[in-house]
Amino acid sequence: MPHPSFEIREPVFRDLVDTDTPPEAIATGFTWVEGPVWWQGALYFNDIPARRMWKWLPEAAGPTVALDDSEFANGNTVDATGRMISCEHGGRRVIRRSDPGNPSAVEVIADRYMDKRLNSPNDVVVRSDGSVWFTDPPYGINSDAEGYPAESEIGGCHVYCALPDGTLIAVATDFDKPNGLAFSPDEQRLYVADSGAARGASFPGFDYSLPHHIRVFEVDGTTLQGGRVFAVIEPGVPDGLRVDNDGNVWTSAQDGIHCLSPEGRCLGKILLPAPTANLCFGGPAGTDMFITASDTVWRVRTTRRDAAACLRGRSVRA
Ligand code: MG
Repeated sequence: MPHPSFEIREPVFRDLVDTDTPPEAIATGFTWVEGPVWWQGALYFNDIPARRMWKWLPEAAGPTVALDDSEFANGNTVDATGRMISCEHGGRRVIRRSDPGNPSAVEVIADRYMDKRLNSPNDVVVRSDGSVWFTDPPYGINSDAEGYPAESEIGGCHVYCALPDGTLIAVATDFDKPNGLAFSPDEQRLYVADSGAARGASFPGFDYSLPHHIRVFEVDGTTLQGGRVFAVIEPGVPDGLRVDNDGNVWTSAQDGIHCLSPEGRCLGKILLPAPTANLCFGGPAGTDMFITASDTVWRVRTTRRDAAACLRGRSVRA
C-alpha cells in the first residue's frame, strides 16, 4: 500500500519513487532551510535566516556546521570540476567555493550587471559548457529576514548567464521573481520558476494574481527562445526545481514536491507537513531525494538521478 504521504496521479509515479516508505526527517530544528546539494559524499544545505551552512553525512549522528557565516546563502549547485557554486543574498553575488576543504574560500562569479549590483541571487545551475545560469529575485533585499534591505539597483529581476570568461548576459528580463531553474537532460530546454505570488518575508501569504508557474525555454547557445508557461503550481509557488535523467521536472510547492512529466502533466506528489522550498538528488547512488521544508530536511528514496549530475559524470569519465 502506498503511504499517504504520496499522492499518485499516474501509475508511473510508483516506478519513480518508493511510495511504500514514508519521507524520513533526517535533520530538523532549523529556522528555514534551502539550497540542498550533494557534494563530496555529503549533503550540504543552508539555514538562510540563521546565516549558517550545514553538512550532513549518512553515517553520522546528526548534521554539523559547515560554515558559520554563510551571508544568507541560498541555492547551491556543483560545477564540472566538482566545486560548489552558491548564491549569496548578503553578498548579492554568485560565488564558487574554491577550496573543497574550506567553504569560506570563494571566487566571485558575478556580483554586478552593467555596473549595478545584483539584487540577491537565489538559485543556480551550471551547463556542461561551463556557463553558470542563475536567477536574481529581490527576496534578499526586500526585507531583513534573508539579507540586507536595499533598493534594487538594476530595477528588474532577471535570469543571467555568466560565461567562463566573466561576461554576464541577461538571458530573460520578463520575469516577476525568477527562482529555481534546471536544464533538460539534453540541455536544449531550460525550466525557470517564477515565484512572483510569494512577494517576500514582509508580505505573508500568496497573491495568486501574480506568477506561480514554471516556464520552459528552448536554449540556443546563450539565447533563450519561447518561454511559455509549462505548469502552474498551486498551492504556494514553485521555488526550487530539479530535472531527473528521464526529463521529469520535480518542483517544490507549498504542500511538498510535485513531479511533472516532460509534457507538464502532474504524475504525483510527495506531501510534506510544512511549506517546501528546495530539493536535490544525492546519496551514495544519486537516487535519494533530499527536500528542505521549513525547519526540516527530508529524505525520499527514488529510482531517478539528477540530469545535470549524470552529464557531469559523463564529462568526468570522458
Ligand atoms: Mg529559491
